[in-house]
Formats: sequence, structure tokens, C-alpha cells
Amino acid sequence: MSELYLRIALPSPLRRLFDYRAPAHIAANAWQPGVRVRVPFGRRELIGILVETATATTVPANKIKDALALLDTQPLLPANMMRLCIWTAQYYQHSLGDTFSWALPTLLRQGEPAEARQQKIWLAKLPLNLDDPLLTRAPKQLQALKVLAQHSQGIAHERLEHFAISKDSIAALLKKDLVSQQVRQLQDLAHKKPSLAQPELPLNDEQQAAFNAIHANNQEYKAYLLAGVTGSGKTEVYLQLIREALAAGKQVLVLIPEINLGPQTLERFTKRFNARIALLHSNVNDRERLEAWLAARSGHADIIIGTRSALFTPLQRLGLIIIDEEHDTSYKQQEGLRYHARDLALVRARAANVPIVLGSATPCLESLHNAHSGRFALLRLTRRAGGASQPKFIRLDVRSLPLDSGISAPLQKEIRKTLEAGQQVLVFLNRRGFAPVLMCNDCGWMSQCAECDARLTFHQRYNELRCHHCGHIEARPHNCPECSKVDLRPIGAGTERAEERLQILFPDTPVLRIDRDSTSRKGAMDTLLTTIGSGEPCIMIGTQMLAKGHHFPRVTLVAILNADGGLFSADFRASERMAQLIVQVAGRAGRAGDPGRVIIQSQLADHPLLVQLSEQGYFAFAEQALSERRATSLPPFSYLALLRADALKAELADNFLEDAYSIAEQLVTQLAIQGVELLGPIASPMERRAGRYRAQLLIQANSRAQLHRLLTPLCSNLENLASARQSRWSMDVDPVDL
Ligand code: ADP
Ligand code: ZN
Ligand code: ZN
Repeated sequence: MSELYLRIALPSPLRRLFDYRAPAHIAANAWQPGVRVRVPFGRRELIGILVETATATTVPANKIKDALALLDTQPLLPANMMRLCIWTAQYYQHSLGDTFSWALPTLLRQGEPAEARQQKIWLAKLPLNLDDPLLTRAPKQLQALKVLAQHSQGIAHERLEHFAISKDSIAALLKKDLVSQQVRQLQDLAHKKPSLAQPELPLNDEQQAAFNAIHANNQEYKAYLLAGVTGSGKTEVYLQLIREALAAGKQVLVLIPEINLGPQTLERFTKRFNARIALLHSNVNDRERLEAWLAARSGHADIIIGTRSALFTPLQRLGLIIIDEEHDTSYKQQEGLRYHARDLALVRARAANVPIVLGSATPCLESLHNAHSGRFALLRLTRRAGGASQPKFIRLDVRSLPLDSGISAPLQKEIRKTLEAGQQVLVFLNRRGFAPVLMCNDCGWMSQCAECDARLTFHQRYNELRCHHCGHIEARPHNCPECSKVDLRPIGAGTERAEERLQILFPDTPVLRIDRDSTSRKGAMDTLLTTIGSGEPCIMIGTQMLAKGHHFPRVTLVAILNADGGLFSADFRASERMAQLIVQVAGRAGRAGDPGRVIIQSQLADHPLLVQLSEQGYFAFAEQALSERRATSLPPFSYLALLRADALKAELADNFLEDAYSIAEQLVTQLAIQGVELLGPIASPMERRAGRYRAQLLIQANSRAQLHRLLTPLCSNLENLASARQSRWSMDVDPVDL
């Protein structure tokens, strides 16, 4: 009898499959592509995914090893997801085994059974009696019981905390016999047809037109760019499309950017439908993630909402994909498998032949280009829903004005006026910490990271100097390390300093700082949002965390400090980013009845980009930017791949990239590849980071196909290069930052 060989994708950076012999005691037909297999690998054991079986192998008979165990009776990934992962690995020039690792929930990678675990569920006992004398002195228990009563399906034990129910309250309620416990599998949840839990808003004309256009073609692949100004009611359009998909018995995949706000957006979906919603975002733990993934795969979840990796969730009845805030760069993974979830979602939608909706107030230039060329259908929402008007832009030239912790006098006046009118103010400053650098007033020494080509930011709250690039932290020196004098001064302003100053200027107004430092504690963001939600006058000062998705109905003044960064960067996408950020931040203003104003405080207030953006809006800016990209042959008018290398010495990274350059040049000649240019190698924008020297080689092509004809053989060559052993390297296809 001939041997059976297993071709397995292992979590290894090597872009190849590994052959093992199928052990004789396992039936041949058990080896279906997509099952997990445990195999010996060097001195370790690894878990891989079976890609195919074969009756022959090139591995010599005395070298081939037996697989150790088969972990699944059913393929973990259905055929369509296997294909998507294979496509992803090829397109992004990444090892297939490692691609699977990124695509699968952690517990499955570790060999956990692909079965839903039994869940302990708490239910309020019926008939509900909230006036029970047992509860009169126990407000927390009463509240817990109310919350439980609102969930007729019960609340899972692990989820209690999420609903602010303490284990003590539950224990007390159980003693009083007011709650009961059930054990069941998530899969058992009675399959009721999903339904509306909340009335819908009647769509306005523009929303209705967008809805109709998408709904009319809901049986086939088509990509829609829903370009609607902030607050135009895009989410309402998504929700009504979801309703239709659910009514047709379909599952819907909703991707959201990686953000801290999660709950606000999520709530709108969970409140609207009586449906089983699986959440796959950064706040769910490994177990919840696995359960959600399994529920999605088995068809037991109706709506799947998650951040970029949720894109890889297998779905039995996929009917619609929605990408909210499609321009958000968090859809692009910046490590390991450098995929773009938006682009892969398009691939997936096409393969599944379902519609996909990309929504944004500030679509990325790639998507706009696709809309112009007819690949996407463009649907515009030009007005705010619910009657609010668009904010007005004011450019405030501060070239000749002194700045007081980053805030000019005219701006202070506007802030005061707004607060006096009983409204809220949002101040945007995209820089954490107290000051971007500490300087010696005597000798000019500046706080510099020893490991990076970057300054150390001064954080006053902790009295520390911190590197925002490598994470290095040190105590603030008392004396200058160079000249020992004590006159060290913070230069420039970050959010901490602006907060301090604003609090002094407006002592009777709450000043709330919202950045990664102030919201890292669990629940901190919620507390801040509650204060803001109260509607009382307050000032929010924060970083781009403020730009994403929030609704602050009482904010009527948005101030953007220091918008100049994006006007100078070497990255050709910097101005697009800056425009998106400004428009998104501005979009937080005046979302309710009161009109909003946006003040852009800048040293470059008459820079053409700022003028155009503030006077003509994002689309005018984007058209201009697109024509510049066309003129300079930059994406979306060309295709890029960035080969990055880093090493302990600059020469090592250079040597590797020089070798890569020659190999690429040879391949271009040998394979007669057309229209490809090699640019570099050059030092990366921040050459040294975390103690390593970084350099890069940019590959630019005028067709995707030609680019990939080069990349595939190039990457396999690079794997075997001697100089690759002394450098770390990565290939970034369609890089989003250069
Ligand atoms: P976007 O997603 O485009 O930012 P939202 O869907 O969040 O916009 O809508 C902005 C606000 O307008 C929300 O408060 C929403 O409830 C309201 N809204 C949306 N559609 C309508 C409508 N058709 N009629 C009245 N209010 C609406
Ligand atoms: Zn000094
Ligand atoms: Zn550093």
C-alpha cells in the first residue's frame, strides 16, 4: 500500500509547506484539507493546518517524520476560507502557516477543541417582583435583577462584569431565590428569527436612495462607497440593510476600526436587533473570541462585529459585508502579516458574491479612485441627518501670536464664549504627554532616546521621560546630564500641558483629557464619556482618540491645535491623513441642533491645503490630491511594495538590501518584468528605533500583476540569502506608511 503524505502549513516564517507521513492508524479519509495536525518540528511540536495530501514527497524516506495527531474531525476552516487564506498569503508574500495563525483565534492555534464550551447563564426568576421586600435595602441587587430581567436569554457568567453586575450581588440574589442558573451551550440558544428590538428612523431622501441602490442588488457582488458627511446617517443605512439581510436569513459581517470607543457603536447594533451578535474586537478575551468565532462558523450568530481580524471569520450564510470608516488605517496590520482588511473584504465579498458597503465621511483616495473608475458605486450623503448643520471652518493664523501652552489668546476667547453659552468645547492636539522634549536652558541639551532617533517626551504626571517609539521610560533628571545645571525646561505642548493650562484658565469648568495615558485604566473612558454625556459645559482635550466615531451633541466648538505636522512629512499620504483627521475631528462639532465651529490654529493658516479643505471641503481636497498622485505616479496610480530591514548595525541592513536590490534587478531582466522601478535602499524615516538600524527598498510598479511577478520569486530568494541571517526583514505589499 502506498504511503500518504500530509502537506502542512506550519506557523513558521518560511514560505513553504512541510511534508509529514500520515500515521497508518488514522483512516486516509480523515485527512481533509483544513484540519489541524500536531507534528514534531525540531525539538518542538507544532500545530499546523493540513493544506493537501499527496502520495509522493521530495523529502527522503529517512528524513520524513510521522504526524503525531489529528485534532479535528471536521475541517477547522471551510474551503472558501482556506482559499481566502491562501490568496492572502500569496498576495501579501507571507508564509501560509503564519497567515493561518493571524486568521485563527488564539485558542484554536493552541490546539483547543473547536467546540463551544458549556456556559453558565444567569436568569431572573419569573414572575419578576422588583418590589420584593428582600430587595429594599439592596439597591445593587435590585439593579442587577433589573438588568437580568431585560435579558430574556440570560447573561453568561463571564459577561456579568460587562453589565456591572458583581459576583456578590449574584450570590446574594441566588440565596434569596430571585435568580436561577442554567448551563447550556451557546449553540443551543433557541433560534428565533432575528427581529427589530427598536423602531427604525424613517430614512431621509439621500439615505433612502443609498439604501435602495444597495438593496436592489443584494444578491450579488458589488462594492458601494457610502460617502456621507459626519452625522449624515450612514449607520442608520447600515442598520436597515442589516435588517433586510437578516430577514432573508443571512449573516452580516461588520468591520469597525480598532478603537477605544467600541461600546458606543456596538450599542447601536445590539439595541436595534433581537439577534445573536458575535463580537470580535480587542476587548473580548480569548475564550469569548473562540465562542464568537464558532457561533459565526456554525451559523448561530446573525451579526458578526469586529476589528480587522474578524474579516477571517468563517460564515455559513454570509449575505453582506459592511466596513465602517473605511479610510481608517487600523484596517492595515503593521506587523507580521501586513494585510489590509478592507482590501481583503473586497476579495471575500467577490468570492462569496455578496454586496459590500464601505462607509466614510473621508474616503481614502484609493476608494475614491475606484469609485471614479466604476469599480465601486458611489453613494453620497451630503447633509447631516436629523437637521444639524455642517460645522463652519475658521483658520486662525498664529504666526505672530504668542502661544500659551499651545493655545493662542483669540482661541482662549472663543473657548470662553462657548462655555458661557453653556456649550462644550473639544480641543484636539495629536501629541500625548506634557511636552515633546525637555531642554537645558544653559547648554541646550535635549532629552533624547538612547535607543531611537527620537526625543523623549516629558510626562509630568509621572515625572518621567518616555519614548513613544520604543517604550523606554526614565525618571526626569533633576540636573542637566550635560552641564549639571538645574534649569531644565519643557519645550512645546502636549495634551497634558494644554490640560493643565486650560484648567488654570477655566478653573470652574471640568477639563477632561482623553488620550492613551488618561484612558488606559479600565472604565476610565466610560467615566469621561458619562461626564461629557451630562451635557454640562466642559472642555475635552485629546488626541486622535477623539476623532473616532464619538457623538458629542453639546460640542459646538472644535479647536485644532498644531495642524501643521501633516504639511511637511516625507510620507506622500501625510496630507491625506491630516485632511481626514481634521474633517473627522470637526465632525464631532454641532451634531445636535446648535451649529458648530471649527477653529484651525496654525502657523500655516494660508497653506493651500488648509484653505481648500476648510473652504471647499474634503472632496475638493481629495480630487486635488488625486490629480497630484496621478501626475507623480503614486498610488492609486501605481503599486508599491516596501522591503524593510533592520539590524544591530546599519551596514548589516544595508548589505541585505543591496543584495535584495541586485536579485530584484536580475529577476526583472530574466523574467522580462515591465514597468517596475527599484527605489533605494535608503535609511528609514526614523533610522534607529529600539536599538536597531532600519532601512528600506521601495518597489514601484505600474501594474499589480507585474509587481507580483517580481515579489514572489524575490521573497523566496531572500529567504535563502546569507545576509538575511543578520537582518530582520519584511515585505509590505501596499504599505500605508513609508
Ligand atoms: P454617521 O454614521 O453618518 O456619522 P449616524 O448614523 O450616526 O451618522 O447619524 C447621526 C445622527 O443622526 C444620529 O443621532 C442618528 O440617530 C440621527 N439620524 C440618522 N438618520 C436619521 C434619520 N433618517 N432621521 C432622523 N435622525 C437620523
Ligand atoms: Zn545643560
Ligand atoms: Zn526609543
